[in-house]
Amino acid sequence: MQDCIFCKIIAGDIPSKPILETDDIIVLEDIAPKAPIHYLIIPKKHIPDIRSFEQTEFKLAGNMLLVAQALSKQKGDIPFRLLANNGSEAGQRVFHLHFHFLAGKDLPTSF
Ligand code: 5GP
Ligand code: ZN
Repeated sequence: MQDCIFCKIIAGDIPSKPILETDDIIVLEDIAPKAPIHYLIIPKKHIPDIRSFEQTEFKLAGNMLLVAQALSKQKGDIPFRLLANNGSEAGQRVFHLHFHFLAGKDLPTSF
């Protein structure tokens, strides 16, 4: 997808150092972390947000959750928060689906 920052990173047009990579998912450190640990779990396929998820993509949806589990396990089963903004009015700024994986001490309480 042209003009999508995450697609450019996934295509290698913008260099990055993924925390973890699978066939269908890449995990990056957020460029502007809002918690001591702030990762982005990003499907390699350009899907704008959860509203545009297809029924046939249930495996990818499950894999995104398993990647979150793996990230927690890597650090000894640490507690974490998983968050997705869907649409600009919900705070989404990059319109390529991603889960924010937030963890670490003093995670701000929010909904
Ligand atoms: P959203 O507001 O769309 O839910 O979250 C987008 C997130 O992507 C923000 O937390 C922002 O800091 C992060 N971000 C934006 N551009 C880049 C980038 O080029 N690289 C990385 N690693 N994160 C980015
Ligand atoms: Zn994209």
